[in-house]
Amino acid sequence: MNKKSASSKYSELDDVYGSLDLSKRLPKSQFPAEEQDPRNVFNAVRDELMLDGNSRQNLATFCQTWVDDEIRELMDLSIDKNMIDKDEYPQTAELESRCVRMLADLWHSPDPENTLGCSTIGSSEAAMLGGLALKWQWRKKRIAQGLSTDKPNLICGPVQICWHKFARYFDVELREVPLEGDRLILNAEEVLKRADENTIGVVPTLGVTFTCQYEPVKEINDALDKLQLETGLDIPVHVDGASGGFLAPFCAPELEWDFRLPRVKSVNSSGHKFGLAPLGAGWIVWREATDLPEELIFNVNYLGGNMPTFALNFSRPGGQIVAQYYNFLRLGRDGYAKIHNACYTTAQYLAREIEKLGPFEMLFDGNSKEGIPALAWKIKDGAKVSYSLYDIADKLRSRGWQVPAYSMPANREDLIIQRILVRHGVSLDLASLLVDDFKRTLEYFEKHPVSIPLSDEDGVSFNHN
Ligand SMILES: *Cc1c(COP(=O)(O)O)cnc(C)c1O
Repeated sequence: MNKKSASSKYSELDDVYGSLDLSKRLPKSQFPAEEQDPRNVFNAVRDELMLDGNSRQNLATFCQTWVDDEIRELMDLSIDKNMIDKDEYPQTAELESRCVRMLADLWHSPDPENTLGCSTIGSSEAAMLGGLALKWQWRKKRIAQGLSTDKPNLICGPVQICWHKFARYFDVELREVPLEGDRLILNAEEVLKRADENTIGVVPTLGVTFTCQYEPVKEINDALDKLQLETGLDIPVHVDGASGGFLAPFCAPELEWDFRLPRVKSVNSSGHKFGLAPLGAGWIVWREATDLPEELIFNVNYLGGNMPTFALNFSRPGGQIVAQYYNFLRLGRDGYAKIHNACYTTAQYLAREIEKLGPFEMLFDGNSKEGIPALAWKIKDGAKVSYSLYDIADKLRSRGWQVPAYSMPANREDLIIQRILVRHGVSLDLASLLVDDFKRTLEYFEKHPVSIPLSDEDGVSFNHN
């Protein structure tokens, strides 16, 4: 029976919201039996999306939320291109190779033309690949020496969750250095305390998730040099440059954190964070081709010849890579520097304005030599306020702003902080509107003191992405 004739009340000329399709609740669990009008379904699905937050006001995420028209068009042109099908789409594959070489150049590889690297879906996958390469290199060396290979460990500071995943999925002990007092990041001394013959590598983060600070890669590199001189242990470094890999080269070019340091064997970075590509772009590059163990490379035989692949995925979209290549050409070093420096200026402005409000102490104020364009603060010790940072987050959310509050990892779980990420598109003017809302929030709590402040346990959700 044609559903249109189910009731003579409805006809094909109906307005979307006057239609039979939208006269009832939409299926939520059962697989639908019948077709529906695409126009009606489209509108219903689009309306559901309204309930998501406004991404431009999401100051929690590190990921891109601003998209140029040209990128939309390139993404559209690439919607049918499967990244893995390098034979069918050789030009997309070529663009990926160019991006790898450009990144190797940007990060000072001694041999950018010939080194290896690849695109990924994000830094998480890139981190897995980097960690696997460290594990394989370590194991090969141990086997050659006739030594045991059953207890690999990896040393890091307060890392993003992808490293916890890597450690668990691939059976590596994670020696995550606990925080202590005012030290909220990794340092060389703590690395040395934990390094031994089973250490597959050290992973400093360039732009720590919690406070946004750069960890001291050079200091760690130099300490490991000294360790090698004294003990013979030769421990490589992988830098998690998820954010910093696309910031430091443009805004702190003198900072030595990359392949200028010989011990740095691989770097991961998120193209979809400060690489300014749309969601779904990550990168890993090895210092030199020999730093990626060949056992991890699969040679896939395509019609056109052998193609080395190293990835956890198979099919995936190619548009992000096309868009990334566009960005590199469109912006160049100057363009990236302009966009990111504008973000740093805005972050520093916000840090000053929020500090001026009184009850807050900045832990990181958006200094471009020390971290990413962001700010993080806590409530001053001894400040007499009724609210917690979670209350502030909750109240700001009523104006659409997402400004997360969260507790720090071990051993500073007692420290609650709040953070703002400034990205492409968070202009100084938009930031000034946020400051106005911040002031109104504090005025509101003056008038209506909080009797039971929100805490960690209230599940004020926050995503460390
Ligand atoms: C965001 C982030 C990751 C994870 O990256 P995705 O691109 O989201 O997979 C890993 N490490 C750090 C330091 C990050 O900031």
